[in-house]
Amino acid sequence: MKTNLYKIVVILMLIVFLSINILGCSNEEYYKKTAFFMDTKIDIAVYGTNKKQADAVIKAIFAEMQQLENTFSRHISGSDVNRINEAAGRAPVKVKPETILVTRKALEIAALSGGAFDPTVGPLLELWGWGTEKLRVPSAEEINNVLPLVDYKAVEIDEENSTIFLTKPGMKMDLGGIAKGFIVDRGQEIAKRFPVKALFINAGGDISITGNKPSGEKWRVAIQAPRDPQKWAAILEVEEGSVATSGDYERFFEEGGEVYHHILDPKKGVPGGDVSSVTIVAPDTVISDALSTAVFVLGKEKGMQLLESLNGIEGVIIDKQGEIYVSSGLGDKIEIPEDE
Ligand code: ADP
Ligand code: MG
Repeated sequence: MKTNLYKIVVILMLIVFLSINILGCSNEEYYKKTAFFMDTKIDIAVYGTNKKQADAVIKAIFAEMQQLENTFSRHISGSDVNRINEAAGRAPVKVKPETILVTRKALEIAALSGGAFDPTVGPLLELWGWGTEKLRVPSAEEINNVLPLVDYKAVEIDEENSTIFLTKPGMKMDLGGIAKGFIVDRGQEIAKRFPVKALFINAGGDISITGNKPSGEKWRVAIQAPRDPQKWAAILEVEEGSVATSGDYERFFEEGGEVYHHILDPKKGVPGGDVSSVTIVAPDTVISDALSTAVFVLGKEKGMQLLESLNGIEGVIIDKQGEIYVSSGLGDKIEIPEDE
């Protein structure tokens, strides 16, 4: 009897905790929910509204995100990208307007980065086994065989007919380096239909922020220390906009004592970059996401050169030794904790 009562109390407490789902942080109140898809954890926090509205906005955003994942994933059969890949070298494929938009952005970043970012890395990712359980190091011959298929210039977009064509047989598009950013931006657009004061989205390191916290507190985004998940390498003070990070610690495997991460150099076919993480601050997440991958592959020198050449875009590069490089426009918006 006593244990039953105890159980009921615990269950009731849990129900109250789960259904209220409101978190207080200093004098700030917000509603937060987490979901898992796009192979990652997604947090959304809504400020300056009531629970009912917060639930409604979060539900609408997650629904849209799920639908876009089903459109962009190369692993989901019948998705736009899957159909584009199936028809490579044969025929243009009719796709949704969103697929045209994200592919166009991907090709822009590919051109801007001289091909360090390349949305046609699909054949290489498959060779390495990314997206499957069977990760492995391919032979140089295998890599050389597929390198000619990695070529963003061989992607044709026909805006009028809303089609995309991979002109070489065997080509495969993979939007893993940009789709999350696009989807996060879309989440913010959905939120505009609701009366919320501020909204924070974090999709596995792709962060987007709109509005000001009702308390007037500044938004602060921490960059993880690549070799110590318990530590922050730097803290950024941000206004509205986005902050996205690509790191070699996010997805990797070990073989023969070597560590191999998931960001590939499209020209060499092997994990790229001489850095551990790249964080980009930009107005849109579609840009910060793709550029973080691009700058990662370019490495600290060329990557920083690219960042310095772009207006309204800043970044933080952490190299393999843990050295931190900050683009000149960040000024006092970055705080680097002292090493103890
Ligand atoms: P994450 O998705 O882990 O946050 P990124 O945004 O850096 O990390 O994207 C990495 C993903 O982008 C890979 O999982 C793969 O799908 C794809 N990719 C890997 N290398 C490249 C590249 N050079 N150009 C474009 N996309 C890439
Ligand atoms: Mg990225």
